[in-house]
Amino acid sequence: TPAKEGKMFIKALFDYDPTEDKAIPCKEAGLAFRKGDILQIMSQDDPTWWQAKHEGDANPRAGLIPSKHFQERRLALRRAEILVQPLKVSSRKSYATFPGHGSGTYLAGFRRSFRLSRKDKKTNKSMYECKKSEQYDTADVPTYEEVTPYRRQTHEKYRLVVLVGPVGVGLNELKRKLLISDTQHYGVTVPHTTRARRSQESDGVEYIFISKHLFETDVQNNKFIEYGEYKNNYYGTSIDSVRSVLAKNKVCLLDVQPHTVKHLRTLEFKPYVIFIKPPSIERLRVTRKNAKIISSRDDQAAAKPFTGIFSRSPCDQKLLLHA
Ligand code: 5GP
Repeated sequence: TPAKEGKMFIKALFDYDPTEDKAIPCKEAGLAFRKGDILQIMSQDDPTWWQAKHEGDANPRAGLIPSKHFQERRLALRRAEILVQPLKVSSRKSYATFPGHGSGTYLAGFRRSFRLSRKDKKTNKSMYECKKSEQYDTADVPTYEEVTPYRRQTHEKYRLVVLVGPVGVGLNELKRKLLISDTQHYGVTVPHTTRARRSQESDGVEYIFISKHLFETDVQNNKFIEYGEYKNNYYGTSIDSVRSVLAKNKVCLLDVQPHTVKHLRTLEFKPYVIFIKPPSIERLRVTRKNAKIISSRDDQAAAKPFTGIFSRSPCDQKLLLHA
């Protein structure tokens, strides 16, 4: 979205030094910044060079910074050079072959975008040509993130806490411990399911029981943060279930797969995202023997992935009831 004069703020996701930028039209006019700095965009009239100031800087003079689009494209290109250079050349087809599995989407993008040039097989650098420059998948290139000044709403007491980390490292165990340490302060979401309610269960306590048709409609309407299928039934965590924990003025604890975090980083939730660093492999070998009992339900669920995001927590509310 184009910035209204001075109304847009961005967080820089990279360090920038204009004196080292060969592309900038005038080095003196550039604005240096560090990763994490908040910049105020003063003009986006030029598609390549935006004008910006450091947040709160009283000096009215703005400096030039590379636009998001421009920075994404050149970073993507730089990565492509790094990726393409060590590649083996397949003599018959002249397509770049990428060693191993690519990490992230941009690699898949490059697989489509680059083709080895038949003419230039001598120097590594000129060994590829771009089919179409717009094909670079820039989704993975960190440049800027739009932000807004944070003002706590009067009704808002606590925020969402998202726990991420490697599967099997005990995220759910950690969540359970926090929860039982203070059930007035912490809350967890009640998941939805399409399976039949068991006699000892109550609707809205262990699960919110809904029909398959309604579940599918809700999936279509993006109402779920994540969902999966287990024994022919759907299970999922809805956005509304997070809202209802927060509405009770509790800290909502949620453990999710890393790729769902981007859906939760919204103005509404402003979550604290905590990466749980795993202990050393030696320590894991010792502690996981006991922890296996706790995580075995995770393993069960992971056995039948539906959307690839199924290896999440077992029914949270149940843990609370059993605690
Ligand atoms: P049960 O039907 O025995 O209560 O649970 C079956 C499986 O569904 C469990 O392994 C549990 O981990 C999984 N499950 C429960 N709630 C959710 C949820 O919200 N999302 C996903 N993806 N799986 C869930």
